[in-house]
Amino acid sequence: MNKWLVFLLFQIIFVWGAYGAPRIDIDTTRLIPIDNRTIIGKLGNGLTYYIRHNNWPENRACFYLVQKVGSLQEEENQRGLAHFLEHMCFNGTQHFKGNDVDRFSRSLGLSKGEMNAYTGFEETVYNIDDVPTSVGKEKLDSCLIVLYDWANALTLDSIEIEKERGVVHEEWRNGRDAISRIYERQLPILFPDSRYGSRLPIGLMDVVDNFNHQELRDYYEKWYTPSSQCVVVVGDVDVNYIEEKIKDLFGTIVSKTSTGVINKEKVEDHHGIIYSIDKDKELQDNSVFIMFKHRAYTPDDRKYVGYLRDNFKTNAAISMLNERYEDLALEDTCSYLSASASDDDYFMASTKAAFGLSASTKDGMQMKALTDMLVECRRAAFFGFNQDEYDRFQKEEISSYDNLLMKADKRTNVSLTSELYENYLHGYEMSSIEDYVSIMKEIVLTTSLLEINQRMKELLPDKNDNMVIGCWTIDKDSTCYPTQEELYLSLMTGRNAVITPYTNDMADAKLLSSVPPKGNIIKEEYCNALDYTKLTLSNGAKVLIKHTNIENSQVLFKAYGDGGWTMYGPEDDTNIMMVGRVTFGNNGLSVSQCNKLLAGKRVNLSHDITQRMFTFTGSANPNDLATLMEMIHADFTNISDDPKEYQKTIEELRLSIVNSKSDPESAFSDSVYVTTKGHHPRYKLLTEDALRAANLDRIHKIIEEQTSCPSNYTFIFVGNYDEKSIRPLVEQYLASLPLRKTVERGNYIKTWLQKDTYCHFKRKMDTPKSMVSMEWFTEELPFTLENRMKSCIISELLNRLYEKTIREENSSTYDCSADYYLIRGEKDDCQIGFSADCSMESEKCDSVLLMMKQGFADLPDNITQEMFISAKESMLKSCDELIRMKNGFWLDAIWQKEHRNIDLYTNRRKTIEAMTLDEVVSYLKKIQANSHFCETIMIGEQY
Ligand SMILES: [Zn+2]
Repeated sequence: MNKWLVFLLFQIIFVWGAYGAPRIDIDTTRLIPIDNRTIIGKLGNGLTYYIRHNNWPENRACFYLVQKVGSLQEEENQRGLAHFLEHMCFNGTQHFKGNDVDRFSRSLGLSKGEMNAYTGFEETVYNIDDVPTSVGKEKLDSCLIVLYDWANALTLDSIEIEKERGVVHEEWRNGRDAISRIYERQLPILFPDSRYGSRLPIGLMDVVDNFNHQELRDYYEKWYTPSSQCVVVVGDVDVNYIEEKIKDLFGTIVSKTSTGVINKEKVEDHHGIIYSIDKDKELQDNSVFIMFKHRAYTPDDRKYVGYLRDNFKTNAAISMLNERYEDLALEDTCSYLSASASDDDYFMASTKAAFGLSASTKDGMQMKALTDMLVECRRAAFFGFNQDEYDRFQKEEISSYDNLLMKADKRTNVSLTSELYENYLHGYEMSSIEDYVSIMKEIVLTTSLLEINQRMKELLPDKNDNMVIGCWTIDKDSTCYPTQEELYLSLMTGRNAVITPYTNDMADAKLLSSVPPKGNIIKEEYCNALDYTKLTLSNGAKVLIKHTNIENSQVLFKAYGDGGWTMYGPEDDTNIMMVGRVTFGNNGLSVSQCNKLLAGKRVNLSHDITQRMFTFTGSANPNDLATLMEMIHADFTNISDDPKEYQKTIEELRLSIVNSKSDPESAFSDSVYVTTKGHHPRYKLLTEDALRAANLDRIHKIIEEQTSCPSNYTFIFVGNYDEKSIRPLVEQYLASLPLRKTVERGNYIKTWLQKDTYCHFKRKMDTPKSMVSMEWFTEELPFTLENRMKSCIISELLNRLYEKTIREENSSTYDCSADYYLIRGEKDDCQIGFSADCSMESEKCDSVLLMMKQGFADLPDNITQEMFISAKESMLKSCDELIRMKNGFWLDAIWQKEHRNIDLYTNRRKTIEAMTLDEVVSYLKKIQANSHFCETIMIGEQY
């Protein structure tokens, strides 16, 4: 829609709103049009398919098998089989014996996760993502054969089943945190008459460890049947050919006679209040919530425009209420850190929905938070929202639809695929973006504030029936645990409180008090290799701009300037840690006022300080580039306080420091952090004591100094900006940045670990597991594109080796992953390293450690030519996707080129293609011969 027209329509709404004139009615009984670019069909045996041509990423295709079968189909003695079966799809099928399906996936150049699956309560979804269509017809056909085998021809071999038990058990251990334990205890209470209460897909380990093989085969026979299966293919394919192939291949599957019947699992209404009260030692957050169960939309409802309109009204009410919660949370007397309203599935049930309020609270404040949340919600329901709140919401909505429209030609295969299978599973709309946006805009512009206020009233019932009150608390000595009676009292206090209308202070605010006097561009140069233009400005700043059409709605931004934290002494340690967390260019406005001012603008901007630089990063919709420039200008010229926001940041940090002490995973990741940083004083962990030493004035002084010399700065913009307007904007907002003081770059300090280092400790926990992190690193080799690519392929190969030995052969872990890094110092010094992380049952820790170390040491002898070639394919595939699809790649490449004088783009593909196995092996051996080692181990023990 034309910008003017939107503006005019807003005027009309405003005038009508003011004079109470009638609105235009929208026909809610109209069907939402289905995008006719999608082919939908059903075979005689009941199997459904969706096929769609799409070319983003270019020359790729996705192949999915979607099943309306999940853990809800399990009987009590089968809990975990649906998920176990999903694992078995990767352990032998008719056409792909043993782990051949993995080998096939690698031959397509796919990386970890691109061929995968997940199991939910109601569905199991198998994906093969973004297969390069250049692999040829035979391999593309084979992708359909993989789906066919999963649907109908699993081997379910006894030896493979036995091997997989350990892997699934370790997956359970990995996911076994405070929340999963609370779910296990509370779901039966929250779902008293429904299987949702007792069918978490991971299942029971007693079943996983002991089920009879035949039971799994029977489950497969009973539930994997064409009438509940759907094949989805999206990508750069010949759709007619694929349709014929699907008919030929899947048409041969015969519907079984003993097929199970899949019924939607019901969730009944209930009388009175259900209470869910729980505590756990490892929880990191005290929470309280209140919910009101109500009817859920059915797939049939979702066919009509009325559904979208209904949904819009709810979203508007919730979003405006949430904005109020956010403002209130800034007051230091507020009982919650954050609170929010939502209207969604009742927990994991698709057949029941709920409107809910939930809060993360300060210690011992749950009862008060329950009351406060409810009072705020009642205020909105009773008095309604104000016109300026709704105007802002409408602006945001319209801007989000415009943004969506700009991206319409570049919908990714994966997002289109998920839209199609969500339609199969739940009936969600699958219209074209153009149709969807036009309907939604019509809805936004024809729905009055009165209707939204009416919806807010409907959302908050005043009866106890169908109500759920929950309170989940960190189990520690000093805390109080509210009882049912106390929570009921909080509810009644909230219900009976006297309420007054909402007031807010939106003064006539601006980001910049006046438009700054323009500077000039004094020089333009062109960089051929990476195709960008370098502008030198009259104040000495440099601006690098690269226009791309990668994403129509995106301009990415980064800036860096000399300075950095080495300019400051140890007395500023905490202030330096806080620099990246405070806001500053607000022109005296509060952060909340700024956010309201920016309603409808799609911009973001953040900053940080590094050893010798101050940096900014951000992004904008091309239409909002001027706003981004204004924000940058304000950050350089307008340093001001928002003490409330700062106090809230400090309080949130303090609580997260205190509460993370209860979490074993945080203890481990903190230890890895300080160990790998060699306990350097600038890489300390924040403590409560340190926080008390932080000083907002001093932090702002530091920022003021860091931003006082524009000639220190280089600004980079990459994306679909308007060629005509970017230079005037640069002159207006960047060339005009004033010089306040010259700043020298801070001194260079080497903070890398330079010797062998170990950190081993024990930790008591509820479900013990041990966690390991290793690093091998050297400073003997230079930072070059070749070394970066060689390191990348080595980490890919190490990943594959770990998966084969530690997961597949020894069933010792769910995941052991490897990675690589190259960091560069200031004098061309460089550290190259590899890392590996794993978690496992404590008894297996020693053997896994040995396999990890041995795996790295023996890697040079264990890389076969086949592994090498397929790893290379996968690198080439992601190289192409990066270059063609990611503005972020270009932002980084330009930065590396300007700042480090290294070109990571021009020869990237050639370098990967030219790598030989011998070269990579000798590179790896050189690293191994000169490397240091760092190891962090946490041994988990039972409380
Ligand atoms: Zn799994």
